[in-house]
Amino acid sequence: MDIRLTVEKLIAYAKANLALKEEDEVYTRNLLLSVLRLPSPLGGEADIKDAANADVPDALMEEIAEYAKKAHLTEEGGEERFAANIFGLLLPMPSEINAAFRAAYKEGGPEKACDYLYRLSVMSGYVQKTAISRNLKWTYDDGKSGLEITVNLSKPEKSNKDIAKLAHAPKGDKYPSCSLCKENEGFEGSATHPPRRNLRTVKLSLGGERWFLQYSPYAYFEEHCIAVNEQHVPMHVDGRTPDKLLDFVDYLPNYFIGSNASLPIVGGSILNHEHFQGGKHLMPMHHASILTHYRSEEFPTLEFGILDWYNSAVRFEGTDRKEVAACAAKLIEGWENFDCPECDILSHTGETLHNASSPICRKIGEKYSFTVILRNNRTNEEYPDGIFHVHPEHLNIKSEGIGLIEAMGLFILPPRLKRQMGEIAAILTGDAAYDESALNDPANDLYVHRNMVKKLLSEGKAANMDEAEGRVKDYINQTCAAILDNTAVFKKDENGRRGFDAFLRSLGFQEA
Ligand SMILES: [Zn+2]
Repeated sequence: MDIRLTVEKLIAYAKANLALKEEDEVYTRNLLLSVLRLPSPLGGEADIKDAANADVPDALMEEIAEYAKKAHLTEEGGEERFAANIFGLLLPMPSEINAAFRAAYKEGGPEKACDYLYRLSVMSGYVQKTAISRNLKWTYDDGKSGLEITVNLSKPEKSNKDIAKLAHAPKGDKYPSCSLCKENEGFEGSATHPPRRNLRTVKLSLGGERWFLQYSPYAYFEEHCIAVNEQHVPMHVDGRTPDKLLDFVDYLPNYFIGSNASLPIVGGSILNHEHFQGGKHLMPMHHASILTHYRSEEFPTLEFGILDWYNSAVRFEGTDRKEVAACAAKLIEGWENFDCPECDILSHTGETLHNASSPICRKIGEKYSFTVILRNNRTNEEYPDGIFHVHPEHLNIKSEGIGLIEAMGLFILPPRLKRQMGEIAAILTGDAAYDESALNDPANDLYVHRNMVKKLLSEGKAANMDEAEGRVKDYINQTCAAILDNTAVFKKDENGRRGFDAFLRSLGFQEA
């Protein structure tokens, strides 16, 4: 490998894919020579066609990382960061990205603008398309809206305890304060902070505040974006949140947008910086219909009702933005203080709040479609991790909190499951021996799955690997559905129905 050829390939790649302009070519080549400590570029013709036509930056990134290691241009383990740094140099400055985004918006509308930023985020290696394509993905047909399940191989598993620790971590001297802060744009990264040299964002104005839009590097679904407050302020969902979400969908009606609940256990993994998540993909929950219709004199134009969905969600739709915003605010604020001891719902313990909501919005033509998922994070003796959290018998499949994405029916399962699913399937076919006492050893990789293995085996051996894998997947499907049922504050029984009705009546809604 000749690194000087890599430089020419990078220039060709950046011209084709990263909006590098001809006027900036010589300048950028010199930047690369400087960072790679090369005295001069390659002379003569270079074969750069493949590089210009590449659809991901991986091969070039690997060449840079390999050279950085060989030439001792970075400390050990810093190769990936070094490569991200190079791609950061090739990208336009944030001001140019913002101008190009606005120009694309003006010319071709929100889709064209989003296409521009998304493509750039993939081609700069920020959105890790290759890693994402290696994830295991399938859908569970439950006879209704279905569930989507992904075993994510690129993101490490976090426990609720890790998340709580992060939420209460002092801001201190850490720079950037967190992984969502605006200050990540162009940040080189360190051994403890991921490289963000190739991150680019565009400005948003939500609820009169300065926010910005970026894409998720892990891309749980199609064009998974994050809207982030420019200020490092904690997550909070209140009566002003609906207006921010409505501003988002008015500007980018091609994406849905939603907020995690703002309490631990029910609120996703980043609670210390206000942000929303959204994207092009429609979630299983979006396909659910209204089960029980309600009406209210206060909101005469809205179609309103309880959603036919696993957890407790209300949907309302209408074209009058003011009415939609007021209805959402009423639900969010009303839920905060609603108690229903028969359903185990206590909104407070002393000063500590337990009720939280997750508002989600999208636009269908001129109509706003708003969903509010009701959550509660209370714990008790029987459920020390949360009454409306993944119950202990399901923790082997998912131990993290059930945040916005899962609550909408898309499960992101930990990478360890890929290996463990294979191991369990091998036991089912008999290719691997079943040793019950070995599985009872906490050091065993399948210890957490011992009950699952026992149950699956009690239903008989599998004839072949296909059947075994199908049965393991089916077990996971049922578990994901049961987990969502766990998170429902109003269960699908008489008690739950009465409680849900009492909540809506307390806000002035009557069953239609
Ligand atoms: Zn932050």
